[in-house]
Amino acid sequence: MTYRFDRAAETLPRAKLAALQLRRLRQTVKNAYENVPLHRRRMRSAGLEPGDIRSLDDVARLHYTVKGDLRDGYPFGMFARPRETLARLHASSGTTGKPTVVGYTAKDLATWSDLMARSMACAGVRPGDVVHNAYGYGLFTGGLGAHYGAERLGATVVPMSGGATERQIVLIQDFGARVLCATPSYALAIAEVAEKQGVDLRKSKLRIGVFGAEPWSEAMRREIESRLGLKAMDIYGLSEIMGPGVAVECEAQEGLHGWEDHFLFEVIDPKTLDPVPEGELGELVITTLTKQALPMIRYRTRDITRLTRERCACGRTHARLQRITGRNDDMLIIRGVNVYPSQIEAVLVGLPGIEPHYQLVLERSGSLDELTIEVESGDPGAAERVRHHVKSLIGVSAAVKVMKPGAVPRSQGKAVRVRDLRPKGA
Ligand SMILES: [Zn+2]
Repeated sequence: MTYRFDRAAETLPRAKLAALQLRRLRQTVKNAYENVPLHRRRMRSAGLEPGDIRSLDDVARLHYTVKGDLRDGYPFGMFARPRETLARLHASSGTTGKPTVVGYTAKDLATWSDLMARSMACAGVRPGDVVHNAYGYGLFTGGLGAHYGAERLGATVVPMSGGATERQIVLIQDFGARVLCATPSYALAIAEVAEKQGVDLRKSKLRIGVFGAEPWSEAMRREIESRLGLKAMDIYGLSEIMGPGVAVECEAQEGLHGWEDHFLFEVIDPKTLDPVPEGELGELVITTLTKQALPMIRYRTRDITRLTRERCACGRTHARLQRITGRNDDMLIIRGVNVYPSQIEAVLVGLPGIEPHYQLVLERSGSLDELTIEVESGDPGAAERVRHHVKSLIGVSAAVKVMKPGAVPRSQGKAVRVRDLRPKGA
């Protein structure tokens, strides 16, 4: 039988899963109502008490929570437990203003480790594997999330963090890493540095990549797989909900299993805020079901996906999310055309003679936004080819600047894909 970290939970019949979800949803709503003023206020103004949540459908009667609520409550205003009882804090790097702070009880950390272990096993990681963890350690949830999950699974963790790429390449080979955990953009940077050094990592023991924390295209997946000689698996999570390990691909790779015994997933129309029918595209909304310190009611992730509860070939019963290739906030509007950076990435990575490193530069010309795509190529004629393909495949008119190979900044964590040079507040 195929290895499962938590076979009983992963294959729980759907009726039992739904009953468990309802019990846990009621606990979560009670926890939020009794301990977090913001949730109590919003429920009261909707005329709701925790006892009114009697079915899973009743979740639709509850309010939404957004990232701004966490910022407004900075630092600990959304916590449902006294700060003295928390075991750890993490925070997102706020590009503007205050960061968002999240907290965990010891039990929350144990749940997270279990779910990360389950996720890594689902992606093909096994007890006894050497896991080379190049996610950044620190306030970012990626590094420690993967670290404790891999330990919980029974793997041997190498806590590298990001950066010092030459050293990473030496240790991947010397320690016999079978698994690489990193952002996809940093995995690609590792591949590139190895190639420059004349090291063929395809001949190393690497077999599985557990990649996430930024949107990436299928074209980027194929590129990384062919250059590192591994299977690239997509993992999803966000610190406001827990961190990595909320959803992950299985061997079937037909979407990411979202762990429904710990999270309630909905997809809504981001304009009307109404739930969309199953299978339709919309914004992912998550309610946590087991978090103690930071229960989240209908958190709007801004991530665009669709949900299916059809049975997966792998035998797991949990719903699947379509791979997320764009976040609402990342969407660019160029002369009236909506475009996600990952769509442009998919075009660039497929083009011969173009390096898979790029940045999108946004500028304002009069009242119009102008897009310049910075790409790397040894071929000065590449600009016209890129411009043509982007125009014909996505419908966007962009200027293209061809730079020398190596000129686009390399990622050591989350890649910076967009440089927004438009005047602030305009
Ligand atoms: Zn599956």
